[in-house]
Amino acid sequence: QSQELSQVQIDYHAALQALVEDGTRMVCTGRMHTDRICRFESLCYSTEAEEFVYFHSNSSVMLPNLGSRRFQPALLDLSSVEDHNTQYFNFVELPAAALKFMPKPVFVPDVALIANRFNPDNLMHVFHDDLLPIYYTMQQFSDLDLDARLFFMEGWSEGVHFDLYKLLSNKQPLLREQLKTLGRLLCFTKSYVGLSKITTWYQYGFVQPQGPKANILVSGNEIRQFTKFMMQKLNLTLEESSSEEYIVVFSRTINRLVLNEAELILALAQEFQMKTITVSLEEHSFSDIVRLISNASMLVSMHGAQLVMSLFLPRGATVVELFPYAINPEHYTPYKTLATLPGMDLQYIAWQNTNREDTITYPDRPWDQGGIAHLDKAEQERIITSTEVPRHLCCRNPEWLFRAYQDTKVNIPSLIHVIRQTVKSKPGSKKQKWSGSLYPGKVRDAKCKASVQGTSEAKLAVSWQIPWNLKYLKVREVKYEVWIQEQGENTYMPYILSHQNHTFSENIKPFTIYLVWIRCIFNKNLLGPFADVLLCST
Ligand code: UDP
Repeated sequence: QSQELSQVQIDYHAALQALVEDGTRMVCTGRMHTDRICRFESLCYSTEAEEFVYFHSNSSVMLPNLGSRRFQPALLDLSSVEDHNTQYFNFVELPAAALKFMPKPVFVPDVALIANRFNPDNLMHVFHDDLLPIYYTMQQFSDLDLDARLFFMEGWSEGVHFDLYKLLSNKQPLLREQLKTLGRLLCFTKSYVGLSKITTWYQYGFVQPQGPKANILVSGNEIRQFTKFMMQKLNLTLEESSSEEYIVVFSRTINRLVLNEAELILALAQEFQMKTITVSLEEHSFSDIVRLISNASMLVSMHGAQLVMSLFLPRGATVVELFPYAINPEHYTPYKTLATLPGMDLQYIAWQNTNREDTITYPDRPWDQGGIAHLDKAEQERIITSTEVPRHLCCRNPEWLFRAYQDTKVNIPSLIHVIRQTVKSKPGSKKQKWSGSLYPGKVRDAKCKASVQGTSEAKLAVSWQIPWNLKYLKVREVKYEVWIQEQGENTYMPYILSHQNHTFSENIKPFTIYLVWIRCIFNKNLLGPFADVLLCST
């Protein structure tokens, strides 16, 4: 066990003196507890009280200084899951002078990232809530490099995917329980507390039914930078496209089974004339799964956490997600949202079992495996006869669990039909085209010139120069959008134009002031910013 902290030698007496004299210093980013990450010097943790401690001295700093708003509801979220009341961070305050009466502090010399894992036994949660946020929090602060040490404070044991967390830094991550073995009062020389939420794309339904986050800020590019890092750490290199094309069926072996998996594999192989292989978390090492998925043309799997592995699919590949009976694919979209992030360049297909004869239910299992025997008879009857689980909140809805843990006999013709609606020829045309889309800058030197003909007619000649970045780019189609708004009116007339000048005469009145807004558009949907508004008087 490498719980040895003192890889960096520190002068204990100097460190203690600095703590007593300078106390704790905290400076945070973020305006709200939900977007805050704090950097600390000399943040301490009492393993007996299981509380973080902030020591006040003449030199201590606390920004933001929230007063009691620090508890409304917390200073920050310790996990990447937004505003979850089991994941809050705070500290208790003491005068530095109290150190005289406290256990001798043990100093943590490594730069520390202190956070909570949200659900380390579920692979979707591991990647979405922990690994990606940790990776990009470390990218945000330059001293959180590979020599930083992760501290997981949620209180869980390592969990089945701990090896993945170990890839993020060269030092063994430490768990809350292990801190006790290090001392009674730990003081982190330098630490960051909290995780960036900038890469998360899904909300799990704690306050409203689950769905994509309202304001997604990540694209396939950042996802792939992360997977590239993970593959390097796993000693995997991307094989060249020369190798054979194949389909991966990711199977579950414990529950939510595909009952006719052999038939499914044969059908896929035959339909697409491709080798088709199965993997499962139970039978393959993680790194074998990543190696196989990272070169696959298609990934087929029952809805479930294992589908987060589509992170590793190559551009152009297809994700096929299978849903059990009565589960509306539109209501459970963590993997659809991932596959369709801009720049992920994956094709996503959902198939649902709509055939009651093809499902096997387990009403007598424990409630957390979808059993409903504990419910009253009328409710059991309602659930059994229902054809769709209504939208619901996380996480213990018995109707949802009942349907989620059904086994399914996949209707092969119906599945192939659905896939064929999207995949016309061969799946996974792995063309590594660079699809990073660049936006136009502002148009430049916009000018207008008015001319009046008589008392009722006028013309407005507007011209502008191309955006500055266009001369360095190859763009398929360049268009300009011009809005003409009469001053004081709420409406405007929009025009799409191909040239850099145009004379407007329709609906242009003499002796009137017009506001003219111009922006450039690349390839139909890459909208640039409007240039400063032009004021034109006829
Ligand atoms: N799991 C698995 N095989 C199974 C059932 C589950 O590998 O037969 C994994 C699954 O991928 C996830 C974890 O066990 O990482 C928890 O599964 P659960 O069904 O609770 O969650 P879900 O997959 O619905 O998110």
